[in-house]
Amino acid sequence: MRKVAFYTLGCKLNFSETSTIARQFEERGYERVEFSESADIFVINTCSVTENADKKCKQVVKQAKKTSPNSYVIIIGCYAQLKPQEIATIKGVDAVLGAAEKFRLFEVLNDFEQKDTVQLCASEISQATDFNTAYSYGDRTRTFLKVQDGCDYNCAFCTIPLARGNSRSDTVENILKAAKEIAATNVKEIVLTGVNTGDYGLINNERVHTFFELVQELDKIEGIERFRISSIEPNLLSDEIIEFVAKSKKFVPHFHIPLQSGSDEILRFMRRRYKTSLYNERIEKIKKLMPNACIGVDVIVGFPGESNEHFMETYNFLHSLDISYLHVFTYSERQNTKAAEMGNPVPKSVRAERSKMLHSLSDKKRNFFYESQLGKTKTVLWENEVKENKIFGFTENYIRVNQPYNVSLPNTLQEVELKDFDLSTSNITVNAIPVSELV
Ligand code: SF4
Repeated sequence: MRKVAFYTLGCKLNFSETSTIARQFEERGYERVEFSESADIFVINTCSVTENADKKCKQVVKQAKKTSPNSYVIIIGCYAQLKPQEIATIKGVDAVLGAAEKFRLFEVLNDFEQKDTVQLCASEISQATDFNTAYSYGDRTRTFLKVQDGCDYNCAFCTIPLARGNSRSDTVENILKAAKEIAATNVKEIVLTGVNTGDYGLINNERVHTFFELVQELDKIEGIERFRISSIEPNLLSDEIIEFVAKSKKFVPHFHIPLQSGSDEILRFMRRRYKTSLYNERIEKIKKLMPNACIGVDVIVGFPGESNEHFMETYNFLHSLDISYLHVFTYSERQNTKAAEMGNPVPKSVRAERSKMLHSLSDKKRNFFYESQLGKTKTVLWENEVKENKIFGFTENYIRVNQPYNVSLPNTLQEVELKDFDLSTSNITVNAIPVSELV
C-alpha cells in the first residue's frame, strides 16, 4: 500500500481542501500517514498570505525529502497558483498544480512517478471556475465546510482573487448533503468557510442563492449541534442574518468581521466596501440582540499612506467598539496588487510598533470580554487537546475553557459555569465547572 502525507499552510479553507484531497487518496487505497513519517507521496498545500511563503515552502519540502529521499512531492494551493515557476525551481519538488488542477491530481499526474523535469500544471486563474465541495474531517472535533470560493472584490492589498479566482459557490443541495454526511460521523460543530463567505450564492456568475437562504436551510439539519460562521464582510452581514442567528439554537453567537482600518480614508484607499459608520452599526446591532456575543475583528496596520493620525483613528475606533479580540496583520507588499504601486510606504519599524499597540489592545479586549462572562452558564464542546491533564474546548461564544481531563469528554457538549481565569496556560483560558457538579 502506497503511503501519502499532507502538510497545510494557511487558512481554514486550505484545511478543508487538504482533507478532501486526502480522502481522494484513501478512496483509491492509499494509506494516509503523519507528515513526520516516511511516505511515497507528499502533498503540500501552500498559502500566499503567509509571510515568507517561499521560505516556508522550501523548509517543508526539505523536511519531506529528509524522511523520504525518493518520495514524490506535489505543491498545491495559493502560492502554487501565483508563483508556479518559482516553486518549480525548489529542489525536491516533483509537481506544481494550480487552482484549476489541484482537485484533479490523479488525472493530471497519473502515476506519481518522478520525471526528468518538474510537472508544472497551473492554468490561468480565469480557468478556475469549478466549485469543488470540500470539508475537513478527522483532524479536529470541528469540521470546516467550504461553501464558497474565490472573490469578486478588489481590495487593494489582496492577492486572493489572483490565487483563487472569481466568486463561486456550492449549491444548497450539495452543502446540505455534505452537512448530513458530516452529522453521520458524529461531528458536533460545522464552521462555514469561504473566501468571501457572505457572498455565497453565485453559481456560473449568476446569483442563484443568498447566504441567508443557506443559513436558514442549514439550521434545520438534524445531528449538527452548532454552526459557526467563520468570517463575514460587514457589508454582507445583513440585519436578517443577525436577527436569525440571535433566535437560532444552532448558529452560535460568534462573529468574525474584517474591519482592516478604522479610518474612512484608508478604507477608501483599500477599496473596501463600507465605512466605519456601517461597521459600528453592525456591532451595535449584534450586541443589542446578543449581549454575550463574541466578536473578532481583522485589522491591517501599516497600509501605504497610513499616517499616525489614521492609525490613531483606527486605535480609538477599535477601543470604542464592544468587540472581543483582534487579528492583527502587518501590511506587507504583495506583487501585482494596487497597494504595491501606491507609494508612500510606512517604515517597517512603525508598522511593527503599531502592530504591538493593537496586540496589546486585543489582549485587553479579550480579557475584558472573558471577565464579563465569568459566573455565566455556557455550553462547551470539548476538543481532543489535552495538556497537563487538562482538557480544552470552546463555548458557543468562543471562550476557551478547561477542566481536569476525563476520558469521556472529548467531542461532547457540556453545560458549565465559567469560574475564573486560568493563568497557568500559555493562552489564557477560563476554568469551568460542570453544572451537574454544582451544589
Ligand atoms: S474581500 Fe477583499 S480581502 Fe477579502 S478575499 Fe476578497 S479581495 Fe481579498
